[in-house]
Amino acid sequence: MTWPPCLPVFLESALSTEHSYIYDLDLEELTQKLVDWGEPSYRGLQVWQGLYQNLWHTPEQFSNLPHKLRLRLGEVFVFAHLQPESILESSDGQTRKTLFSLPDGQAIEAVLMRYDRRRTLCISTQAGCAMGCVFCATGQMGFRRHLSSGEIIEQVLYYARILRNEGQNVTNVVLMGMGEPFHNYAATMQAIDRMNHPQGFNFGARRFTISTVGLVPAIRRFAQEQRQVNLAVSLHAANDQLRSAMLPVNKKYPLQELIEACREYVRETHRRITFEWALIQGVNDSVEEARKLADLLQGMLCHVNIIPLNPTRKYSGSATTRERALAFQAELERCGIPCTIRMRRGIDIQAGCGQLASER
Ligand code: SAH
Ligand code: SF4
Repeated sequence: MTWPPCLPVFLESALSTEHSYIYDLDLEELTQKLVDWGEPSYRGLQVWQGLYQNLWHTPEQFSNLPHKLRLRLGEVFVFAHLQPESILESSDGQTRKTLFSLPDGQAIEAVLMRYDRRRTLCISTQAGCAMGCVFCATGQMGFRRHLSSGEIIEQVLYYARILRNEGQNVTNVVLMGMGEPFHNYAATMQAIDRMNHPQGFNFGARRFTISTVGLVPAIRRFAQEQRQVNLAVSLHAANDQLRSAMLPVNKKYPLQELIEACREYVRETHRRITFEWALIQGVNDSVEEARKLADLLQGMLCHVNIIPLNPTRKYSGSATTRERALAFQAELERCGIPCTIRMRRGIDIQAGCGQLASER
C-alpha cells in the first residue's frame, strides 16, 4: 500500500495553499510546476526571464502572462521574502548596507560598494556563523541557520533593481557577508548556478568570489568541480597556535592541511587564490609573521589581501597602524608574494561582516 493511503481533506488543502519561495526554484522546477497546473512549458521560461532579466518582483509586473496565471503565481509563490529593515549609507556615499529581516525573525546583511566603475555586492550565506572566529561580529553571534539558495539570490536581485533604476549593473558579487559559504555548500552553489543561467540573470561565474575560513574537504570538492568562481581563503595567521586562537576551525583543519588543499586547488584549476589577512595590532602584524606567511605561500599562484581589522564589540584587538601595515606589505613583497593593502570600506556604517545584525 502506498503511503499515505488517503490524505485527510484538511491536510490536502493545507498543502496546496503552502507558499513556495520563487527564487528557491531552478528553471526546470519552475517549468514543471507550471506544467503541473496545465500551462504550456514555455511559460516556465517566461516567468524565469521576468524574474531574472526584467527583475520583476511582483506577480502584477508579469504583463506577458494571462491575468489568471498572474493571480495564481501570486497565490502560490512568495516573491519578496527579504524585508529591508534598515539602510545605511556611508558618509562618502559609496557604500550602502541593508539589514534584511527574514520571515522567521532572523536578520542578514548585504552591502553595495561603488568604487571606480565597479558595483560590488557583498552578500550573506548564513544567518550567524558556526565558526566562531574571535574578531568577527558574525562569529560572535553564533550560528542561527543556513540561508536557502533563494535567500542568497534575493540579496543580489534587490541591489540589481536599485542599480538598474540608476542605469547601472552589478559587476561583482563576493560571498563575504555573514556566514561561511562552504558550510552551506549546496545552497551557495545552487544560488551561483541560478544567477549564472544564460537565459536568466546571466552573471558570469568569474565575477563571483567565495571566501572561506578554510574548510579543507570543501576546498578539495570545489577544486574538483572546476568552477570559474574565484576563491579567497581567510588565513590571518601563519602558525597553528595563533591561528587556532583566532579561528577555532584551525584545530580541525590545521595550516599544513589547509595550505596543501590550496596548492591542490591551484594545481587542479590553474586559478590564483586570494588569501585574506586582517592586520591586528601586536597580534599578527610583525615583519616576522610576514616572513612566515611568505614561507607558507612560497611558489603558489596567489595574492594576499591585507585588511586592517575592523574593531568589533566583543574583541579587544585593534587595527594596525599604517606604518606597520606598510612594513608588513614590504616584507611580503621582498619575499616575492604579491599583496595589496585594502582600505576599510564603509567603516562609519559598520559595513564589516555581521556588525549590524549582531547589534540588533
Ligand atoms: N566566512 C567566510 C566569509 C565571510 S567573512 C570567511 O571567513 O572567509 C569575510 C572576511 O571578513 C573574512 O576574511 C573574515 O576573516 C573577515 N573579517 C571578519 N571579521 C573581520 C573584522 N572584524 N575585521 C576585518 N576582517 C574581518
Ligand atoms: Fe564565520 Fe567568516 Fe566570521 Fe569566521 S570570519 S565567524 S567563518 S563569517
